[in-house]
Amino acid sequence: MGYVANPERYKKMQYKRCGNSGLLLPRLSLGLWHNFGDTDNLIKARRILRTAFDLGITHFDLANNYGPPYGAAETNFGKLFHQDFKNYRDELIISSKAGFDMWPGPYGNYGSKKYLIASLDQSLKRMGLDYVDIFYHHRPDPETPLEETMAALHQIVQQGKALYVGISNYSAELTKKAYDILKEMGTPLLTHQPKYSMFERWVEDGLLNVLDDKKVGGIVFSPLAQGLLTDKYLNGFPEDSRAVRDARYLDTGQITQDLLNKISALNDLAKNRNQSLAQMAIAWLLQKPQVTSVLVGVSKPEQLKDNVKALDNLTFKNEELQTIENILAN
Ligand code: NDP
Repeated sequence: MGYVANPERYKKMQYKRCGNSGLLLPRLSLGLWHNFGDTDNLIKARRILRTAFDLGITHFDLANNYGPPYGAAETNFGKLFHQDFKNYRDELIISSKAGFDMWPGPYGNYGSKKYLIASLDQSLKRMGLDYVDIFYHHRPDPETPLEETMAALHQIVQQGKALYVGISNYSAELTKKAYDILKEMGTPLLTHQPKYSMFERWVEDGLLNVLDDKKVGGIVFSPLAQGLLTDKYLNGFPEDSRAVRDARYLDTGQITQDLLNKISALNDLAKNRNQSLAQMAIAWLLQKPQVTSVLVGVSKPEQLKDNVKALDNLTFKNEELQTIENILAN
């Protein structure tokens, strides 16, 4: 028996308009950076996708190089999409990106038109899709003129290969420029995708103001600092955690006693709010007006169920916000 989506899926999830656009996004979106590669369990990956959609999470975020190996997350997502979600295509927002190292030679990295157009064609083929909903330039390219990179995004929309475009990891200054160039060409900048969490605050130094000014939505990544903003590392290093299983981006050496003290104090505050730390970390982001959606990753469907319960309490008393600042400053 094939997958039939939960008929109640739109009852609980909340949706927010992305900037000035017509697009409503779920407050929580699912990222496929980890857990969808060839070294991962695809049965579990399928359960994660089904759980997400059943919870009203309509947005799945990918990139050309998610794996391992590069491309595998898109290929695996494509397989699962065709088995389970084909009939739901118009209920889904699927995104991909290009900008990091993807294939050898001078045309498989950064921000040339040559790279972006070819990469999106490859992504569409891997996923078996006619178009993506959002296509991003994944990181700024210090050498390619911004006009060329933005012209590639504009062309992609003109060709119908993406409905909307975004940028990721761009500074405040460069975001303003990208916005203006795109606007002049007639393609609005839908979104910026920055890293943002209680532990990673760079966006507060200018970028959030730009998003406000330009009415561009923020879809923020690593809201749980890759799992640090949960209670999982408080009593050691679980065998199935990211830091132990896959030390490419987070390893146990980064989890110092000083960090654990902060996590423990935040965990106590979350308990006082009747939330898990993961839920509080997500709620803290969702109460910021510039954040349209938080992009969580999960290694188990249960984590997603836990995370969406953040929506049950999105308000913070001023004292709670101050306590968070004090903990982080210590
Ligand atoms: P998170 O900060 O949400 O970390 C995800 C990890 O946290 C999970 O794999 C899991 O770790 C742990 N976790 C999640 N929920 C819970 C829970 N309820 N209880 C306990 N542990 C939990 O995000 P990611 O770093 O995975 O990034 C999310 C997405 O953002 C990516 O998939 C990608 O789409 C996007 N991204 C974009 C980037 C860009 O440059 N634009 C860069 C990086 C990410 P464990 O495996 O230990 O169980």
